[in-house]
Amino acid sequence: FNTERFGQHILKNPQTADTIVEKANLRPTDKVLEVGPGTGNLTVRILEKAKHVTAIEMDPRMAAELTKRVQGKPEQKKLEIMIGDFVKATLPYFDVCISNTPYQISSPLIFRLLSHRPLFRTAVLMFQREFALRLVARPGTELWSRLSANVQLYAKVDLVMHVGKNNFRPPPKVESSVIRLVPLDPPPPVAFEEFDGLGRIIFSRRNKHIHANFMAKGVMEMLESNWRTWASTNNVMIEDDFDIKKKVEEVLDESGFTEQRAAKMGVDELLKLLSAFHDAGIHFA
Ligand code: SAM
Repeated sequence: FNTERFGQHILKNPQTADTIVEKANLRPTDKVLEVGPGTGNLTVRILEKAKHVTAIEMDPRMAAELTKRVQGKPEQKKLEIMIGDFVKATLPYFDVCISNTPYQISSPLIFRLLSHRPLFRTAVLMFQREFALRLVARPGTELWSRLSANVQLYAKVDLVMHVGKNNFRPPPKVESSVIRLVPLDPPPPVAFEEFDGLGRIIFSRRNKHIHANFMAKGVMEMLESNWRTWASTNNVMIEDDFDIKKKVEEVLDESGFTEQRAAKMGVDELLKLLSAFHDAGIHFA
């Protein structure tokens, strides 16, 4: 195991650890999932407030240290350590997720949490600062991106605090920030692959007109192939003069999005555009 490869930067500042756990608003009945507990600086604080913690740790040496830390104490019974890779692990039921995340798995972590059922109540997560700021970015700001939209489709996300590199040992190369995420319940009734598929097209150059992004290489071929699949499964006749480009332009014109830019469009507008395409039988996945 290698410090950089597994992102083993232990949180040394007790105040930061306190704040992270505080912001989770734990209840005595809560089951908590912790990803990458390391030596347990967050874990011991969570154990004080929650009913149970499942901690998934990839490095057996870290897991052994954490085991030693709670051995013989009443908290021991409340802690289950799973040794393995979070990305492959079967997740237990949990009310709250707290994690000082190994940054290599930021994206898989957030999307695994969002697709987990039943929905959890809150997650408090530490990320590399740039990633965290993209998660909380609002439309019309510099960091508003496909990632922001994909996450905010499913959750309310806000910034808890910035954490400088000197709060860790050894200090990482990058700055960190903590965010809090609250899943929308119920989640919006839209297929993620469709929403993300539209996002891939219009965020590829987020400051360009939407129309221009649809004219990019390969886009029409992909949409036509999707349209043919959709038409055949829905018994829709494909006219001889079928023209996908014309169809796309009609949707953009009628919905009024032709000259808009993804950089300025919020989740609601993205959903409106997606549903206009769906009404016309145009799909993105
Ligand atoms: N949470 C501790 C703290 O705040 O001090 C440790 C944080 S350290 C940045 C990240 C931890 O995640 C390390 O203990 C590392 O071994 C573990 N880890 C890295 N990749 C992992 C993965 N894919 N699944 C589970 N744990 C992982």
